[in-house]
Amino acid sequence: MATLRVCSLYPDLMNIYADRGNIAVLRARCEWRGLGFEHLASGLGEPLDPEAADFFYMGGGQDRDQVAVAEDMVETKREALHAAQDRDAVILAVCGGYQLLGSSYQLGDLALPGVGLVDLRTVREPGPRLIGNCAISSDLGSGPRIIAGFENHGGRTYLGEGEPPLGRVLNGFGNNGRDGFEGVHRGNTIGTYLHGPLLPKNIWLADRLIELALGIELEPLADDSLEEAAHMSARRAAGV
Ligand code: GLN
Repeated sequence: MATLRVCSLYPDLMNIYADRGNIAVLRARCEWRGLGFEHLASGLGEPLDPEAADFFYMGGGQDRDQVAVAEDMVETKREALHAAQDRDAVILAVCGGYQLLGSSYQLGDLALPGVGLVDLRTVREPGPRLIGNCAISSDLGSGPRIIAGFENHGGRTYLGEGEPPLGRVLNGFGNNGRDGFEGVHRGNTIGTYLHGPLLPKNIWLADRLIELALGIELEPLADDSLEEAAHMSARRAAGV
């Protein structure tokens, strides 16, 4: 029996958008199928074993928590995250976590370093926060699907030339409110601004990420009507 091993990065600091709901969904989807589930965590100052998990998760955070996390992540986890990426582990980072996957997050005079897993930078520009329901069209290898969620960020993210986004914005702001891109998707490394939380609202995405992390194909569950209703409700909120 396969076991999904999930490691949360900085769960006590990077967790402001009901991020535990994402972990609860991963656990339920595995257990309902008779798959094992293990949950580990790695916080400030703690090392990270790239072999110890198949799925690394990081949630959203406020600017001041990101300051503490950014330096620490570069010092204690950067190499391990690159090793995890190289062995095709799933790395999912939402909002504040997403902003720290690239090269830097510029906050006024302060430049927070990123771990450089993907080619992007984030800048806190003058202007309103980008807040609201958002829906995107995305393809994670199982055909185009919709991801719906809620976004709330002051930072604007710009992908490097040719760096693939997670999707195209159908409604909402996405990475920066200008170029129509949302998130990033390189191999099994995924960053997104969408939360609310993300996986309970998009159960197909939860299942797809489990498949990618374990290298297996999942059978559908007998009754996903509540999960589908949650997805459609998030889509309606985003006008899609
Ligand atoms: N602090 C970051 C911003 O405002 C990210 C916030 C978040 O995780 N929602 O851009």
